[in-house]
Amino acid sequence: MSGVVTVAYIGATILFILALGGLSHPETARRGNLYGMVGMSIALLATVLGVVTDHHLLLVLGLIVGGAIGIILARRVQMTQMPELVAILHSLVGLAAVLVGFANFMDPEVHFEGVEQTIHDIEVYLSILIGAVTFSGSVIAFGKLSGKISGAPLVIPGRHWLNLGLLIITIVVGWQFVNESANAGIGITSGLNPLIIMTAVALLFGIHMVMAIGGADMPVVVSMLNSYSGWAAAATGFMLSNNLLIVTGALVGSSGAILSYIMCRAMNRKFLAVIAGGFGTSDSASKGDSAVQGEAIAIESIEVASLLSGAKEIMIIPGYGMAVAQAQHTVCEITKVLRSKGINVRFGIHPVAGRMPGHMNVLLAEARVPYDIVFEMDEINQDFSNVDVSIIIGANDIVNPSAQEEPDSPIAGMPVLEAWKGKATVVLKRSMATGYAGVQNPLFFKENTRMLFGDARESLDAVLREL
Ligand code: NDP
Repeated sequence: MSGVVTVAYIGATILFILALGGLSHPETARRGNLYGMVGMSIALLATVLGVVTDHHLLLVLGLIVGGAIGIILARRVQMTQMPELVAILHSLVGLAAVLVGFANFMDPEVHFEGVEQTIHDIEVYLSILIGAVTFSGSVIAFGKLSGKISGAPLVIPGRHWLNLGLLIITIVVGWQFVNESANAGIGITSGLNPLIIMTAVALLFGIHMVMAIGGADMPVVVSMLNSYSGWAAAATGFMLSNNLLIVTGALVGSSGAILSYIMCRAMNRKFLAVIAGGFGTSDSASKGDSAVQGEAIAIESIEVASLLSGAKEIMIIPGYGMAVAQAQHTVCEITKVLRSKGINVRFGIHPVAGRMPGHMNVLLAEARVPYDIVFEMDEINQDFSNVDVSIIIGANDIVNPSAQEEPDSPIAGMPVLEAWKGKATVVLKRSMATGYAGVQNPLFFKENTRMLFGDARESLDAVLREL
């Protein structure tokens, strides 16, 4: 049986790698997803039938209950709630690592001797440590993303010292744990107290770490917790001597780490500075407001339609509001009409537009917008001087000039799409409300900017009718 399981695991590993490769481009993403699903089914089957336990009935019961909850949640969740769902799913990976760690440590049938015992203890310790940080951090991230907890960072005085203190306690307690466990007689479990203390410290650290991170830096946190959940799974894999869990965990951990790096670059932040927290305070947000002067000028859909018809170069910049309004299909229809008139229409995608990595690409792919007119920010940001009309659909922070012009702004230094350099800009949103970072946007008050107020989908439907 174990030979079959090994072959199944190798097959699943290959499928996971192919899945990651597929997900790197919208055109192959569906295939990538399919590989992932087949790989996971094979892995689950092989594990259930071959490795874990003899209590198959219990296991199948767990699978049915867990699977049913998963299906119900996935059916209910709106596209805009996906980031919250991902955050809460990360927390479950963390919780599983903690529970399996404790169960494994207390299992009387699992015992090693000498160095092997110490190695196994370190695996248990790391698995619970990373799992607990992932669990509590993800729960807080869920709260922040769903608006249940304020997006403003919690800045405790001396917070770096607090973090350092928690780190030192974790190391000292870890030392104590390994020693107590090694000195206990065979078959006796010792070291539970230090393990419980470390778990409490790690939970506290996870809460503090994510509470201290400001709204605008949340994309980095989401991808970082994704990475942590992978490392937690990999550590559990070492503890259980399960190769597939090690490989899968490492794939998730390293791809999450690469994504965090890309997100940091997109926000022009240093990774350590994000983790140290404190960006995006509401105090500095109000400083940003003072620079905004003048009046925003409203426009009607009929005028927008004639502006678009008269243009040669159009840039569409989608943001979170397009996802809320589910306006992507109308956007695609408008694009078709304009292109049929010989107008060059392009899309400019900011790396942190929306509420999750690749959010806009997913929506545009769903509406079947051709991939070759969708460009990353770096590819088109220098082209705005040639653009006749930029249409900003429910985007705000990602087109905010104060990121460049106001050093005090919470989003200072974040690269943005420089829409104000085009000849005319039309912004579609419902009100003058701020975006996720809570900063007012001077773009709305520029001379060549017009505001088309209303739900993005309704506004665009009206523009499409006029066109
Ligand atoms: P923003 O949140 O900055 O702005 C979205 C705008 O859309 C709002 O100002 C809102 O204005 C408008 N809006 C909302 N609903 C509608 C609707 N139905 N119709 C029309 N407009 C609507 O979004 P951006 O995409 O510009 O920026 C993303 C922000 O989210 C960044 O700060 C980023 O850091 C953060 N973030 C990104 C993550 C990622 O991974 N991509 C993860 C977590 C956070 P109004 O209410 O007036 O309509």
